[in-house]
Amino acid sequence: METVASPGRTLALLREKGLVPRKSRGQNFLVDSNIVRKIAAVAELNPYDIVVEIGPGLGALTQELAYRGGLVIAVEIDRDLLEVLRENLRDKGNVRLVAGDALKVNFDELVAGFLENAGGRLPTYKLVANLPYYITTPILMHLLTGKFRINLLVLMVQAEVGGRMLAAPGSKEYGALSIAVQYYTEAAAILKVPRTVFYPRPEVDSVVVKMRPRTTPPVQVDNEDFFFRVVRAAFNQRRKTLLNSLGGLGWERDLVLKAMTDAGIDPRRRGETLSIEEFARLSNALQRRVE
Ligand code: SAM
Repeated sequence: METVASPGRTLALLREKGLVPRKSRGQNFLVDSNIVRKIAAVAELNPYDIVVEIGPGLGALTQELAYRGGLVIAVEIDRDLLEVLRENLRDKGNVRLVAGDALKVNFDELVAGFLENAGGRLPTYKLVANLPYYITTPILMHLLTGKFRINLLVLMVQAEVGGRMLAAPGSKEYGALSIAVQYYTEAAAILKVPRTVFYPRPEVDSVVVKMRPRTTPPVQVDNEDFFFRVVRAAFNQRRKTLLNSLGGLGWERDLVLKAMTDAGIDPRRRGETLSIEEFARLSNALQRRVE
């Protein structure tokens, strides 16, 4: 079957179906089969793998995942595209197309629905996506915090978002997203992808980030919700000292100060300089003081 990932084929498909890529849905299609192969290779697929894809679009990546993997379950929000996908992938018996909003999908239930006869425990599965840019962070947070049985994530994101995901303490890009990504996964940037391989061409380059969800967190956190509240407060007003930004959560200054002393953290520091380990110590100490 013809490869979707070429400028000619993508344009022809859109023209044939009278479709115009929707900016509001983050539709930038991959038109370079070489890059598609490289992304799929990052997922290290074998014929037994179950792969979930978010936003299959016209099927450029889906084709390659279906070729390399076992079962491919693709969730697309745009019903016009689903029609094209059905046609494009009709010779791929191992692809299941699902209409839906990735933000609302319980991925474990989705996969379980296609394995009805498997019995027993749900197997782990991989998740691969060229993410729609307008909701990258919410989707990422859904995937990270959902406690799904995902054992590998391969996500293409805007280069700037990739920078924030992987940033180290003290850098401009370091923030709540860096901490969430690094707390829940072991993550690395694998491949830079220039804007020229998309149609329509976005204004920025992209990066493929590979993430392995951790089986145990890298630091000891007593209460994850509390930890992330502290993290978000610390980054909400980046220019303030920790003491002042945590005051924003409504606790007495004196209590916050004592918790900082307990945790061995100088109250004059700014949130953006704290490592994940220090945030964990601080949130554990704070929780003990305020509850
Ligand atoms: N995978 C295709 C490719 O690489 O050529 C398309 C990638 S395009 C950047 C993002 C895709 O995600 C589009 O097909 C878009 O319609 C779809 N999408 C946007 N929002 C979505 C959502 N909330 N849930 C599922 N798919 C979504």
